[in-house]
Amino acid sequence: MALSGLDIYKLLPKTNCRECGFATCLAFAMQLAKKAVSIEKCPYVGKDAKALLEASSLPPVRLVSVGEGESKLEVGNETVLFRHEEKFHHPCAIGFVVDDDSSAAEIRLKLDKINKFKFERVGQQLNVNLVAIRQKQDKKRFLEAVKVAQEATALPLMLMSESTESLKEALGLVPVNTRIIYNAHKGNAAEAAKLSLQFKAPLVVSEPGLEELSVATKELNSLGANDLILDTSKKNIAEKIWDLTQIRRQALKKNNRALGFPVCVIVDKDDPFQEAMEASAYIAKYAGIVLLKNVEAWQILSLLTLRQNIYTDPQKPLQIDPKLYAIGSTNKNSPVLVTTNFSLTYYTVLGEVEASKVPSYILSVDTEGMSVLTAWAAEKFTPEKIISSVNKSGVQDMVSKKRLVIPGYVAVLSGDLEENSGWTVVVGPKEAAGIPSFLKNL
Ligand code: SF4
Repeated sequence: MALSGLDIYKLLPKTNCRECGFATCLAFAMQLAKKAVSIEKCPYVGKDAKALLEASSLPPVRLVSVGEGESKLEVGNETVLFRHEEKFHHPCAIGFVVDDDSSAAEIRLKLDKINKFKFERVGQQLNVNLVAIRQKQDKKRFLEAVKVAQEATALPLMLMSESTESLKEALGLVPVNTRIIYNAHKGNAAEAAKLSLQFKAPLVVSEPGLEELSVATKELNSLGANDLILDTSKKNIAEKIWDLTQIRRQALKKNNRALGFPVCVIVDKDDPFQEAMEASAYIAKYAGIVLLKNVEAWQILSLLTLRQNIYTDPQKPLQIDPKLYAIGSTNKNSPVLVTTNFSLTYYTVLGEVEASKVPSYILSVDTEGMSVLTAWAAEKFTPEKIISSVNKSGVQDMVSKKRLVIPGYVAVLSGDLEENSGWTVVVGPKEAAGIPSFLKNL
């Protein structure tokens, strides 16, 4: 937890010697709290105080990352309990458990399906993030499964085994920086830490209780293994949500470093509906990684959509570039539809225009990402703004008929807009679903 200027002042020598370039230790402390200067500027600060100050600048929930580029997975580094307080920073990773008791062909088939889980929604690419290979059979089968997975997917692999020997060999099959080890607990901390450091791989620590989990993470940290992910083992949904909430609260509110790590939850249910329902609760309630057993596209799309909504910055609505978009093979007779630059609004309108098969222009007005009615109420979607967008877009030179279609919810703008723009204003439907029939009859 970050220290205040006064907390930092208590750790300084208080001699006001000015060697740091500030008139007093208090002035220096205030700048330190703002992170405007480095502690190194004071040559007299003690070793313990320095360590405390450095620790206070660490994030309360450690950031754990593996992979690179499109497949990069980053979890943790969260700073708030509730999204509206600031925002959630790193979206919960969604992955799949693949057991080694399936044949190579079955594993390949499952991974082919997983690789195809790429969706575009409101202008953003939604992807799944990892695959966990779980040992159920002997070492040979486990290594075969890891080999198949490594060849079949570019996603980071979590290797789950109780055998250090199996893990050691499996880790050698997977490229550096794309692997996570799942096997640590308080009984094998030394072995697990060694493995994590040797293979430079984050480590999942599993213990049913938070006390035991803290004991294990403290020991692992003392052995140099710091990239940890927590798991509180198999429990029912109520117990899991309790664990997830307590871990987040302990890390943020009590500055409990032993629990300041992202949390992994294995849902692993036979019924895909039950699995999706549980997974959605964990995504909403602080899970860093959620692992599923089923690979149904409808499950994944709904979970990715939920995740996108939860991890969107509540202060910055998703928005698109405010400009003129030509949909289909537009020509001089194409209608011009006006809407806002809130992504969800724009993409909903776009979907309906495409469905109508009537080539059209969509003019997206800069409303700072607000939807139609909100923007109108906030005076961001006014006749002046629309006229300015029309003029900037150059649409007047692209169509022969100067006719603007505005959303039905802001019919009230039509008079002023028509009078001041020189365009004919047509009031469109209130709901986007009415656009196809409206365009066909226009
Ligand atoms: Fe205080 Fe250290 Fe600055 Fe001297 S150098 S004024 S002791 S903070």
